Amino acid sequence: MLRTLFLALGKNKNAARFMRRYGTKMGADRFVAGTELQEAVAAVKRLNVAGLEATLDHLGEFVRDERDAKHAAGMCLKTLETIHAEGLRANLSLKLTSLGLDIDPRLCERYMRTILSRARELQLFVRIDMEDYGHCQPAIDLYRKLKRDFPNVGIVLQAYLRRTERDVRELGREGANLRLVKGAYRESPQVAFPDKRDVDASFAKLIRRQLKQGYAAIATHDEAIIGDTLEWLSQNGISRERYEFQMLFGIREDLQRKLAKDGHRVRVYVPYGKDWFGYFMRRLAERPANAWFLLKHIRRK
Ligand code: FAD
Repeated sequence: MLRTLFLALGKNKNAARFMRRYGTKMGADRFVAGTELQEAVAAVKRLNVAGLEATLDHLGEFVRDERDAKHAAGMCLKTLETIHAEGLRANLSLKLTSLGLDIDPRLCERYMRTILSRARELQLFVRIDMEDYGHCQPAIDLYRKLKRDFPNVGIVLQAYLRRTERDVRELGREGANLRLVKGAYRESPQVAFPDKRDVDASFAKLIRRQLKQGYAAIATHDEAIIGDTLEWLSQNGISRERYEFQMLFGIREDLQRKLAKDGHRVRVYVPYGKDWFGYFMRRLAERPANAWFLLKHIRRK
C-alpha cells in the first residue's frame, strides 16, 4: 500500500510543486547529491577518488511547459561542459519527458540531437533513462533514430515489463548499450509482472542474454543477483570491458566500493537539481523501511 501511495504521490505535479516551494528536503539528500550542479560535482569527485565512476542526472520529468524543457536541455549541456572541464569520470543520464517528449516529440528530438552532438565532441556518453510504460515505445523509437547518427547514446530497459525480453533481443542485435533495471514505476499487470519473483527471474535472464550479445550496465543493489551474475561472468569468461555495475547514489555504498575494489567497473547514478520529489518518492516506494527513515527525519526537524 505504501508503495502505491509513494508512486502515486511521485507523479503528482501539485505535490511536487508544493514540496519544491515549501518543503524541506525531507531526507531526500540521502538519495540526491544536492540542488546545485556544484554539489553534484563534489559528490562525483569523491566517488572518482574512491575508484567509482558516475552518471550525472539533472532531475526533472513529465515536463509540460516549453520553458521547462528548454531549461532542462540547457542543464544537460551545462552538465556535459562541467564533466569535461572538471575532468570527471562521468557521463550523463536524462529523461526524455524532461526534454518535452510530451509536448512535442520533434522538440525533444531536436534537444537530444544538440545534447548528443556536444557529448560526442567531448567524447561523452549519454543514456536515456526509461520512464513509465506509456513512454517506453516512444523512447525506444527515438533512441533508434538517434543511434543511427550517434554511437554515444544508450538506453534503459526494465525487467518488470513483459515486452522487455523481445526488446533486449532486438536492441541487443542492433548493438545497443543497455542499462538493465528491474523497473521503478507503477504498472498494470497487463504490461508488467506483478510478482517480484517473476521480475527477479526476468532480470537475471535478461542480464545473461545481454552479456552474450553486447555491453550491459547491470543496475541493481540486489546482492543475490549480483552474486549470481559474477559467477556466471567468470564461468563464461566475459571480459571486464563488456559490462559495468551501476547503483544509485546513497544506496549500498559498501557494495559499490567492494565491487570496485575487486576490479569491476562501477558507476553511481548521481541525481541533482530542484525537481527531486518524484525521484525521492520512487526511492521510498522501493523500500518500505525508507518510510521510517523519512518519519524520523521529519520528527528531528
Ligand atoms: P530490489 O529487490 O528492489 O532491492 C534489492 C536490495 O537493494 C534491497 O534489499 C535493499 O537492500 C537495496 N535497495 C533497493 N532499493 C533501495 C532503496 N530505495 N533504498 C534503500 N535500499 C534499497 N528504474 C527505471 O524504471 N528506469 C530507469 O531508468 C532506472 N535507472 C536506474 C539506474 C540505476 C543506476 C539504478 C541502480 C536503478 C535504476 N532504476 C531505474 C531503478 C530500478 O528499476 C529499481 O527500482 C531499483 O534499482 C531497486 O531495485 P533493485 O534492483 O536494487 O532490487
